[in-house]
Amino acid sequence: METLRRDLVIIGGGAAGLMAAAQISSLFLEEGNSYRPSILLIEKMMRPGRKIGITGKGRCNLTNARMWDEFSVHVHPNPNFFKNAFYNFSSADTMDFFRRLGLELTVERGQRVYPKSMKAQDVTDTLVRYVKRCKTVEISTEVSVDSISSGENFKLTLSDGSVVESRMVLIATGGLSYPATGSTGDGYAFAEGLGHTVTPRYPSLTALTPKGYKEQPAVLSGWAKQLCGLQLKNVSLSLMVNGNVAQEEFGDLDFTDGGIEGALGFRVSRKAVLSLARGQKVSLILDLKPSLSLSQLSERIKRESSTGNNNVKYLLSKLLPRQMIQPFLTIHKKSLQMQSNSKAVEELPKLLKNTQFDIDSYVGYERCVVTNGGVSLSEISQKSMESKLKKGLFFAGEVIDLDGDTGGYNLQIAFSTAALAARSIVDVFKRES
Ligand SMILES: Cc1cc2nc3c(=O)[nH]c(=O)nc-3n(C[C@H](O)[C@H](O)[C@H](O)COP(=O)(O)OP(=O)(O)OC[C@H]3O[C@@H](n4cnc5c(N)ncnc54)[C@H](O)[C@@H]3O)c2cc1C
Repeated sequence: METLRRDLVIIGGGAAGLMAAAQISSLFLEEGNSYRPSILLIEKMMRPGRKIGITGKGRCNLTNARMWDEFSVHVHPNPNFFKNAFYNFSSADTMDFFRRLGLELTVERGQRVYPKSMKAQDVTDTLVRYVKRCKTVEISTEVSVDSISSGENFKLTLSDGSVVESRMVLIATGGLSYPATGSTGDGYAFAEGLGHTVTPRYPSLTALTPKGYKEQPAVLSGWAKQLCGLQLKNVSLSLMVNGNVAQEEFGDLDFTDGGIEGALGFRVSRKAVLSLARGQKVSLILDLKPSLSLSQLSERIKRESSTGNNNVKYLLSKLLPRQMIQPFLTIHKKSLQMQSNSKAVEELPKLLKNTQFDIDSYVGYERCVVTNGGVSLSEISQKSMESKLKKGLFFAGEVIDLDGDTGGYNLQIAFSTAALAARSIVDVFKRES
């Protein structure tokens, strides 16, 4: 097969690859440049942007409208690395970009930004339509990059046996989560092959599985079955690592077949997974009544029982969602059954504020939202997203060792790093044209 020659190959047509293609196209159009480099975007799936289509429960929380000071606390492990990229293309720029292309947006609780249509597919379609209309970047689908080597140029071998030689390469292959969308971590091997260090990777924004939650890998235990499907609102969750409080969060929590997730579970999952990987003891303490102090809660229970009914189940029915009562009794069986009813009632406030789950595992890449870890930040220029080791090699998106909390931060990381890489690449083209 003949060798194709291109000026730039973008590997991966996800959020980062598509945004890079869109930004390169728009920078060329804006400047009315007559020089047109040959750019190829290679996406291994049938259509680009598969993962965008499942984001935000199908609604796509495409960014978060917070300013840098508030935004940056949601970026890990080193928000400073991301600062340049954010200032070059911020969440306001993301919103502007999509609005100018006709996608109406809405800002919800916590400054989360969604398309007004609430359809994630509209985000992908907007990006793909724009890239196609500009005709600066050619998109090739259903073919994957299998390997990259570098000499004077980069040499990419594709799954159909063809070879592409390119002066520049942008690796935008994503992380490892939801591999069915095409994100199978190929970029890590490419980066390592080109001399880069890849930091250890872990699932993040994932369900934490309590000890005893599953009888066998796919079978929930009795109390887990009672909890599964329960959504708790306005509770607080403390992450304990080796007996010390490592993180405290307030909000909503879901019990699923994977364990504890939802906004609260996800928020503590990054630290919890890392701690488990280090062999530390991890537990979660659930406070079901965080708005009441222990003494206020005792008063409330006393008031309820003074009406004549001081049966534990009755009192719990006044304090907890119906579906939480039976599992609560099961979890606290030892504390409640060994006591007389009046002693058990005395114990209730403490138990309601302190339900402990020892965590012994977590849901893996098949269902986590993002990958923690990736191509080491120390080997990428934060000013350009270009490799410090290999000229002409760029990175964008989740393949980099950057991840965000839930709330639109991860897509913004992908968009900002892609836009910065795009600007740097266009600068190279301009210098050379
Ligand atoms: C269920 C779920 C919900 C989410 N919801 C949100 C949300 O609402 N808001 C938010 O900010 N973030 C969300 N995220 C995270 C966000 O989707 C990702 O962080 C983001 O998509 C990363 O963009 P990326 O372009 O780096 O990688 P990806 O979007 O994963 O794209 C990488 C692309 O590269 C392609 N590829 C990989 N290897 C090769 C190869 N060898 N050759 C050719 N192509 C290749 C893949 O097929 C894929 O299309 C969610 C993630 C999941 C899994």
